[in-house]
Amino acid sequence: MSDPFCWQRLYQRQPPSPLQRLHHPLLEHHRLILWIKRDDLLHPLISGNKWRKLKYILRQALSEQASGILSFGGAYSNHLHALAAAGHRLSLPTIGVVRGEPHSNNPTLEDARRWGMTLEFVDRQQYRRRQDADWLAELARRHPGYLIVPEGGSCPRALPGVAELWHELDPEPSELNELILPVASGGTLAGLLSARPANIRVRGYAVLKGAGWLTEEVCRLYPPAAQDSGWQLELGHHGGGYAKSPATDKTAIAALAERLRVPLEPIYSGKAMLGLFRDIEAGRYAAGSRLLFVHTGGMQGARSTL
Ligand SMILES: *Cc1c(COP(=O)(O)O)cnc(C)c1O
Repeated sequence: MSDPFCWQRLYQRQPPSPLQRLHHPLLEHHRLILWIKRDDLLHPLISGNKWRKLKYILRQALSEQASGILSFGGAYSNHLHALAAAGHRLSLPTIGVVRGEPHSNNPTLEDARRWGMTLEFVDRQQYRRRQDADWLAELARRHPGYLIVPEGGSCPRALPGVAELWHELDPEPSELNELILPVASGGTLAGLLSARPANIRVRGYAVLKGAGWLTEEVCRLYPPAAQDSGWQLELGHHGGGYAKSPATDKTAIAALAERLRVPLEPIYSGKAMLGLFRDIEAGRYAAGSRLLFVHTGGMQGARSTL
């Protein structure tokens, strides 16, 4: 079992991720200033918001001397990929419960296996039970001593690592008006709300269809969010559903990436960036605003689609 020193090495020797100013005619036209927080560059293998969400989960597993960490994800899961990489570095065993056919393979799963993650494949129906107490109890029985972490790493323990992003901002938070990010399971949004400076609104772009339940989920993860009027979810830019989008949107995302000179994938960062630019065009951002877009990473998951 690794010692906390190893955790420190994994987590504290990373510099803050770069912050870049973006340029685009539409921004100038609407007198908006846009920065991007490049969390996709936070760590070469433990990508983006998953690095932040896993930080204190890993520390808990090490300090409690857990036998390992078990978690859930789809076959291209950035979360399972990041967890496998971290577990490998920390000599902490990991188990990934994957929604998919037995023996499925793709670059994400190949990496996970190579880093020693044990993969257990389940069908869609079983996967839907990932929050059922019965199944969780059975998994706990089968894997004694394992810390069981929800899909996406979204649990209250994930919030403080995400909240640390606010301390890495330059421009100062006092110069910013809005922070924008893609949202799937809500953990990253909840973590940001847990330390939101009063003057900055947070806008999450849902990448799933019919994601009205997300408001409640964010409030479950961080109850004070229910009383906080400084955030909102944009539900109209899902592009047809999780990991789906019309071919025209994919083309538009690729064009935006080239124009802005940042890598964007179509599932999270690209969808949210496209949503942002469409909302800017529709006049839904006040002229003069200073915006910060969080690039949550995840380029690995798009290896087979880009
Ligand atoms: C997981 C993930 C998200 C969504 O984060 P949540 O905390 O689940 O809302 C966004 N972007 C990328 C790249 C991700 O991998």
